Amino acid sequence: MSAVPVEHIGELQAYAEAVAGCTRCRLAQGRTQVVFGAGNPRADLLFVGEAPGFHEDKQGLPFVGQAGKLLETLLAGIGMTRQDVYVANTLKCRPPGNRDPQQDEIEACESHLFRQIELIEPTVVATLGNFATKLLSGRPLGITRVHGQEQETTLGGRKVLLYPLYHPAAALYTPAMLKVLEADFARLPELLGRTLEPVAPPPAAAAPELALVGAGAAAEQLGLF
Ligand code: URA
Repeated sequence: MSAVPVEHIGELQAYAEAVAGCTRCRLAQGRTQVVFGAGNPRADLLFVGEAPGFHEDKQGLPFVGQAGKLLETLLAGIGMTRQDVYVANTLKCRPPGNRDPQQDEIEACESHLFRQIELIEPTVVATLGNFATKLLSGRPLGITRVHGQEQETTLGGRKVLLYPLYHPAAALYTPAMLKVLEADFARLPELLGRTLEPVAPPPAAAAPELALVGAGAAAEQLGLF
């Protein structure tokens, strides 16, 4: 477990309560409730899926259907349970008929996810499927290209390992994909054991050249190069 300050746990709860009334996008109209996320607020491992489906919308919890069962089985395979991790989604509200998230919905919702990352302080963020992977990597590369390839990045002001995985819902119906997902999952304990350097604080009064180097690095992080 991470050494999350106790205030952050209260802040996460308060943030969840604030987000429960969110009306930033059209999905507010059709939802039963906001599905904020669930699990251990001090988890080292955060999973980010796509969006709530029918059952999640009804129960207010992420990954409660078949995909959630598979997630639990995969976790058991590495000696973990849902109580050890935190599970959230890219979108907090169910798209009608479980259609794909739309770009403006992702943009409206993304700061909720970034705030969750800031407050939970995970060391590994495992993205499930294309939507979470593209959002958090800042790159357009699809999950088939990047699954299983960890990448150090800065999220919520801290260094984390971003680890793209196939979405369990996709693996449910494709045995070959399930094998790959199991193999990628098996590397999680090793990734959780890695030590990441803290993000260097910005220099107090940077010389112009140093400031430029900083800007370049930021642009690279955003996937502009
Ligand atoms: N359930 C969720 O909560 N998220 C998904 O991405 C799929 C199913």
